[in-house]
Amino acid sequence: MTKYIGAHVSASGGLGNAVLNAEAIGANAFALFTRNQRSWTSKPLSAEEIHTFQQLVAERGFQPQYILPHDSYLINLGSPDEENLIKSRNAFLDEMTRCQQLGLTMLNFHPGSHLNKISEEECLDQIAREVNLALSKTEGVTAVIENTAGQGSNLGWRFEHIRRIIDGIDDKSRVGVCIDTCHTLAAGYDLSTEMGYQFCFDDFDNIIGFQYLRAIHLNDSKKNAGSHVDRHETLGNGFLGNGFFARFMHDPRFDNMPIILETPDPTRWAQEIAWLRSL
Ligand SMILES: [Zn+2]
Ligand SMILES: [Zn+2]
Repeated sequence: MTKYIGAHVSASGGLGNAVLNAEAIGANAFALFTRNQRSWTSKPLSAEEIHTFQQLVAERGFQPQYILPHDSYLINLGSPDEENLIKSRNAFLDEMTRCQQLGLTMLNFHPGSHLNKISEEECLDQIAREVNLALSKTEGVTAVIENTAGQGSNLGWRFEHIRRIIDGIDDKSRVGVCIDTCHTLAAGYDLSTEMGYQFCFDDFDNIIGFQYLRAIHLNDSKKNAGSHVDRHETLGNGFLGNGFFARFMHDPRFDNMPIILETPDPTRWAQEIAWLRSL
């Protein structure tokens, strides 16, 4: 089996529950929040919680490199507001530290927003500086930049934005990219046709490089190509179309990395994963 597929599962009641929730849907990869994603602060992980999580991961046959923690949506490393930036900096470092404590190798984050107060370039360079800061205070965890739909003033929807952030990172071995397929389509890369698929990933390779690709968020899109609206849809029910998912499943460039569903109906995840495996 070369495709590692799962979903962003709930960790409520303890991080160990995320492992059990992933197992229940037939996943061999998963994503989770390691702290409350709606709060700026969180109590530190206890030794017991870390132990339980790691034990369940091993016991249920998951491998740490196919587990992709996602950071809090509050964090904006590109924030033009000093107070918000300091909160974001501290929370991001805490998120990276938690991953390290759990023995996980990646943290998936949304690059940031300029809120129309600073230029795109200033914002992207600031994000790189903030990631450098967190990398310098942690070990063994790669910061994984997710491409966005480009809603509002969110950056990271053009591959060039991500390239500029990577250019600003000192340790290139600890920066990676997560492609969200819904965001990619909404950003204007029309993955729904065979030619669009080819162009998009050629562009990705030329501008960023597949050597940086660490993970996939596999979502269909409720909105059409170029809408810049971030609305995930159940696989096969949106604008990406079944043809896209078949091409994706047969594409070896996406082997051996976590492929995570963030589709809207958790009761369908088991079916969606089984459907992908049948393609
Ligand atoms: Zn995503
Ligand atoms: Zn999204």
